Formats: sequence, structure tokens, C-alpha cells
Amino acid sequence: MNPQWEQLAQTDPEVFQAILEETRRQHGTLELIASENFASEAVLAAMANPMSNKYAEGYPGKRYYGGCAFVDVAENLARERLKQLFGAEHANVQPHSGTQANMAVYYAVMKPGDTLLSMNLSHGGHLSHGSPVSFAGTQYQVVYYTVDRETERINLDEVRELARTYRPRVIVTGYSAYPRVIPFDAFREIADEVGAYLVADIAHIAGLVAAGVHPTPVGIAHFVTGTTHKTLRGPRGGFILTSSEFARKVDKAVFPGIQGGPLMHVIAAKAVAFQEALQLSFRAYAEQIVRNARALANTLLARGLRLVSGGTDNHLMLVDLRPLGLTGKVAEAMLEEAGITVNKNTIPYDPEKPTVTSGIRIGTPALTTRGMKEEEMKRIGNWIAEVLTHPDEPEVRREIRRQVQELVDQFPLYPERRGTMEQLLQKTE
Ligand SMILES: *Cc1c(COP(=O)(O)O)cnc(C)c1O
Repeated sequence: MNPQWEQLAQTDPEVFQAILEETRRQHGTLELIASENFASEAVLAAMANPMSNKYAEGYPGKRYYGGCAFVDVAENLARERLKQLFGAEHANVQPHSGTQANMAVYYAVMKPGDTLLSMNLSHGGHLSHGSPVSFAGTQYQVVYYTVDRETERINLDEVRELARTYRPRVIVTGYSAYPRVIPFDAFREIADEVGAYLVADIAHIAGLVAAGVHPTPVGIAHFVTGTTHKTLRGPRGGFILTSSEFARKVDKAVFPGIQGGPLMHVIAAKAVAFQEALQLSFRAYAEQIVRNARALANTLLARGLRLVSGGTDNHLMLVDLRPLGLTGKVAEAMLEEAGITVNKNTIPYDPEKPTVTSGIRIGTPALTTRGMKEEEMKRIGNWIAEVLTHPDEPEVRREIRRQVQELVDQFPLYPERRGTMEQLLQKTE
């Protein structure tokens, strides 16, 4: 029996039970939220350790605290592995999240009032790209580009025109809800023409880029930011890649610019995740994510659903629910009843509010981690279509919930962990 769990079960049964229930929920439902994944037991183990106790402001070899020899080992491993993974000259693994990574890069190269050119949030951008409710929207002048109304793909002519007109200091590419390949080269050309820095935010696609199934922005964008917990399948966190030229600027912007002490236990887990991503098996995983997304998209299309831009090149797709007379809010709730977890999401030119929306976003990274393949994607796609085309029939959702349970039990998630925790819970009851 794991002594850590034994202690937690005794000391705080309420928190212990909540963790067990969440672990059960993750096993018992079909996780199709495009930004989520299931980290390995090794990654989870690396996070639960006394490195959490250590103050390590600064960087390996240049800390503001004593006793950093061993956290230095962890951070050096994380930095070296991340550089190797992406072929980058410099890596910073300290950002607590993707948002912090973006904040640090902006802080490194922009002054308050400078202009930022980014994709409109409702067309696939991220809050940290300049939304009025984000720090970025209040600190900087933000100009938005969009996707084309017809093709629903990035309109590079518009990006170029806006860049020429507004002369931004920074152009941001990389998105939270864009199902197509991102043309990093074209963005760099535009940035060069107007003397802007290009930031490629690969939060969503980092795992695909690392595995070579999406073109890399490394060596093209001045700065690459990302998260470690989405397709990269590590602990929750962020990172920044850049050239040697900007290394010092980026490091100073992260600390002391916008953060204090780094989360050394999370950095240890990042190192473990990067090592996993360097294996050949990770490439196979990333390829399967994309194949699964294509299979799921094709099933939905065959069932008559409309996908934004007509399909997907990556790990995610957006369903336009307007032809079905549904909103994202309603569809998300109905699918949840059936055991299928997705998120409501705005679609380009969405007439609905962000709290309602006309779309749902569906992604395959998490289920691919569970070992599901094209065959399972077809079943799941048909279930999604059944639920969405029978909104007034709760029995359809009940029947699918039952079938979902059968499917997930064939692809067990964290089985030993759940088993151990269940035994301990019985002991404390
Ligand atoms: C998820 C995401 C982020 C932010 O990640 P957090 O860790 O939630 O702060 C930033 N940019 C994009 C494009 C994202 O999809």
C-alpha cells in the first residue's frame, strides 16, 4: 500500500475522497476536451515530492537561495530535454502556465500601450492574446485578425493589411480552437515586413509539433510559448523557447519579471514528461491523435453535422450546432448526461454570447492516451450524432451512457491508483 495515500486518507478523508471521485470520473467518462490529457503515473509521481518545499528563485547555478543543488539537477534536465525535443537554442521551463509564458514574452519585448496583433478570441484565439478581460487587453493596444467567412481559415491578406496599418510590436499566432495547420512561415514574413516580433503560442499543439506531425515554429518565430499539459501530456504548466539572442531577456522577464519562486516539483515532472515525449512511442501517439481526430470528424460529417472549415488537420474539431437548432451550452450538457465530456465553444462569427455559443469543441488527445483508435472514434462519433439529433429523447442519452460505461471499462485509466484508493477508503469508513 502507498504510504502517501494512507496518510492522506487518515489525515484528510474529505480531500482524499474528492481526489478518488475525480479519478473515478476521469476513468468513467469519455474525455473529449481538446485541451486535456492524462499524464502518466511517472509524471504524477514526480509532482508529489519534497521539491515542492524548495525556494529556488533564479536559474540553475545562479539562485538566490542555498540548497539548490538537486533542484538544479531537475531544472537542467527539464531545460536540456525541452531544447532537444524542439531543437531550440534556449528553453525556460519556469512559467506556471501557458498564460504566464505569454505574459513573460510580452513583458520581455513590449511596453504598456504598445500594439499587439492577434486572432480574435471568438475565432480561435486565447484570452491571453489580448482579450479585454485579460491583463493583455488592458496593458496593450490590441488589434484582431479573423478567419475568412467562407473558408473559415486564417485570412493572411487581412493579417498583412492590419500589420501594415497598425505596425504592431508583436504578432501572435497559435490558437485554442483552430482545426487547421498554422502557416508559421507566412506569419514571419509579415512580421519581418513591419518589424514586429512573432510569438507562436503552441499551447495546444506542442505535442504534435514535438512529434513532427505539425510544422514547427522553432527557428521561425522569435518566441515560442506553450503548455506542458495539453498534447504534450505532462504536468500542468508552461514553457518558452527562443534563440540565444533573446535568452537573457526571456529569463529576466519570467523571474523576476512576472513570477517569484518556481514550482520545482512541477519542473521535475516536466523533465519526466519531456523524456517521455522524446521516445519513439510518443511520435506514434501523436500520429494516432491526428488519425483519431480525422476518423471522428469523418463520422460526424457522414452523419450530416457541419464542422467549422469542413474538417480537421490536427487534434481538434469545432461542430457548428446552428443547423441542428442547438446552442453549445445545451449540447455540452446533453453530451455530459451521456458520459461524453466536451466544451461549448464559440465558432467564427458566432451570433451567441461566449457563455452560450453556437458550437462545441472536440479533441482526441486524452482518449488516444487511453489507447482508443479509429474504431472507437467511429462509435463515439455516432453516439455524439445520436445525442445531438435527438435532443428531446433523454432515453437516448441514458442508453448511450450505458454503452459509454462498457467502452471505458475496456480502456481502464489509472487502475492501480483507483484500486489502492478504494481499499483505503473502505478502511477509513
Ligand atoms: C491553453 C492555452 C493557453 C493558456 O494555458 P493556461 O495554462 O491555461 O494558462 C495559452 N494559449 C493558448 C493558445 C491556449 O490554448
